[in-house]
Amino acid sequence: MAGSHPTYLWWNGRQMPWEEATVHVTDLAWSTVGAVFEGIRGYWNEDSQELYVFRLREHMDRLIDSMKLVRLPAEYSVDELIDASLTLLRDNDAREDTYIRPLAYSAGSSGKRLSDTAASLGMLINTNPMPSQLDSGRAFKVKVSSWTRISDTVMPPRIKNISNYRNGQLASMEAQADGYDGALLLSPQGKVSEAPGACVMMVRKGQLITPPTTDGILESITRDAVMTMARESLGLPVVERSIDRTELYLADEVFLCGTAFEITPVVEIDRYTVGSGEIGEATGRLQRLYEDVLRGKEERYASWRTPVGVAATVAAG
Ligand code: PMP
Repeated sequence: MAGSHPTYLWWNGRQMPWEEATVHVTDLAWSTVGAVFEGIRGYWNEDSQELYVFRLREHMDRLIDSMKLVRLPAEYSVDELIDASLTLLRDNDAREDTYIRPLAYSAGSSGKRLSDTAASLGMLINTNPMPSQLDSGRAFKVKVSSWTRISDTVMPPRIKNISNYRNGQLASMEAQADGYDGALLLSPQGKVSEAPGACVMMVRKGQLITPPTTDGILESITRDAVMTMARESLGLPVVERSIDRTELYLADEVFLCGTAFEITPVVEIDRYTVGSGEIGEATGRLQRLYEDVLRGKEERYASWRTPVGVAATVAAG
């Protein structure tokens, strides 16, 4: 780390010093309307002095899917993007929990607005520290937003598109102005969709239930991991089906999951107490298992981790 930013970033096929990666001011605005990105996390293991990136390939696969849907040309392969990210983390000497953000945008799109915005691909990968909140004990009080979730016929939530995030921002801003920690959004059909930046899960009558990927959600990689861990390691039956708002009020446990939110318990919704009002049993067990998986302290699900090789750099150097 040099000063308040990492030493390097990756831009258009080349790793370069952070300060050298600049664009002309006229590139602002339309270049990011169609931009798509990924949010990926690396977790530091103090004992093994190693950083583990969680499900790196799945994130890069989803980035390529997003690029296809917004018609940005895939000029780099998944393997090239993986290699670029790992080299960047090593060269930035990332010895702490770290966020990795690849972004694909249409460069030089000033004045193009509605046409030809995908003509020239710009692509960036940057990293910054992001400590885990998994053992912070935080629990959210949320409200069901008066805003509706975007849908596949309007702004497809399956695409991790920068523009889509305006919808979640409106819901978050409203929730915070009203004194809540966060929001939940309903689909245009009135079913529970997701939270800004995270998927929603509830435990009710011994099942883990979560909305299907056709109810206006991002195809979340954490959601997939949580469903797998709940089924295999907690023995909880997992059901993907539409959820009514009032079912959430009656749930035993509710939590949010996603790369940034990790597993965040929800203890109150619209001022209804969820379950006991404390972090639920299944939620707590999933949080602990997930943290061990992320940090390389758990043998199960080892294939979800990519060791960066920071330790090897030290040994060699
Ligand atoms: N929904 C939205 C809108 C998100 O931005 C995110 C975070 N990427 C998620 C869900 C969770 O997805 P993931 O588990 O892949 O991070």
